[in-house]
Amino acid sequence: MERVIDLNKYLPDIITHYLDIARDAALELGYDIYLVGGAVRDILLKDYDIHDIDLAIEGDTAEFADLFRSKIEPVGFIYHEPFNTATFTISDDLHIDIAMCRTESYPQKAVLPIVEPAELRDDLKRRDFTINAMAISLTEGNKLVDIFSGEKDLKNGIIRILHKKSFLDDPTRIWRAVRYACRFDFEIEPSTLTLIERDKGNLSLLTPERRRYEMECVLNEKEPVKTLQKAKELGLIDLSAELIKRLEDAGELDELTFMAVYLEDKTDDVILRECEYWGLNSHDRDILMEVKDLKSRTVQKQHSKIYKTLKNYPEKALEIARRLTRDSRMKDMLSYYLDTARETVPFLTGDDLKELGYPEGKLLGEKLQELFMLQLDGEIDSREDAIARAIKL
Ligand code: ATP
Repeated sequence: MERVIDLNKYLPDIITHYLDIARDAALELGYDIYLVGGAVRDILLKDYDIHDIDLAIEGDTAEFADLFRSKIEPVGFIYHEPFNTATFTISDDLHIDIAMCRTESYPQKAVLPIVEPAELRDDLKRRDFTINAMAISLTEGNKLVDIFSGEKDLKNGIIRILHKKSFLDDPTRIWRAVRYACRFDFEIEPSTLTLIERDKGNLSLLTPERRRYEMECVLNEKEPVKTLQKAKELGLIDLSAELIKRLEDAGELDELTFMAVYLEDKTDDVILRECEYWGLNSHDRDILMEVKDLKSRTVQKQHSKIYKTLKNYPEKALEIARRLTRDSRMKDMLSYYLDTARETVPFLTGDDLKELGYPEGKLLGEKLQELFMLQLDGEIDSREDAIARAIKL
């Protein structure tokens, strides 16, 4: 039975406005165009808070993108020649992606696919799960196209792949399965689960960049720790119960904070290996090393000593260490440095000292530092005081 989705009734006007323009542009060119992927899933789940719209076109993407662009005048536009896709930025929280309907074939496990133009049905077949493999035909009266019974799986709360080779072709789908299962509180269907068990070893074949992207997606979920817990249960990542608890306590998890907890008690060798595996660059790796190093610093009380101890650490490392430390004195020390010492403006500058007769050079730098330390320790409390001290020093 044909099922028509009443987009105008539920979607915000801003979205239907752009969908109407896309439909008219496609009709003008004689192409069929479809709303696909996550937006269709979310509409059927009655979640209309949609920020990313994926459109699939049976036709020439470049030609369509030009016409659509001339009708909407987006704030941003990128055409990706090699992939035949276009991204339109409407605003900070509304993007429209347009791609030609395509088939994908995988020459080897876990590499990016070879892509060829195709019809919508083939395009749906290359997708990850039944719930993400539905389309709404904008040029055919908003008819739902659901060849894999995705709507039924949505109703029953099930994550199901489309074919047995799915995770071999693209192991990132394993992480995607975990994310959707946790996000919607869905079950991973038993044979999909068996294939995750069979194919999860292929996650190691991905490039570190692709692994990193998957981790970013996990951390961007509303409940990243729940997702990580599930990943641990499925044997995708090694996390002890204590680490899970530490991640919960850490609050909002950006990538480096997550890695700092994950690698907390690891040796330098393991940290280096894991950074490589998860595609972290040398800058990020250095920050993680500094966080580890900070843990071993002696807690200081005197303000000038705190300043001297911490001044050469990168700000990001200090902030992560402050969030993660369980030692309240260490937390106070880091807070003093980050919130007070670093914000304090020295009473005197190098130019002031030069005016007072100090020759330019190393000594001047040392005097400035000395005066600033006295200022932090409360022994100098005004510019006049500082000038008087500078003359004496
Ligand atoms: P969300 O962004 O809310 O996680 P989404 O479904 O929009 O969900 P995207 O990553 O933006 O997720 O992907 C858009 C669509 O592209 C998916 O719904 C799915 O149909 C398809 N897709 C994305 N990644 C894959 C993949 N690795 N394998 C197969 N299909 C994929």
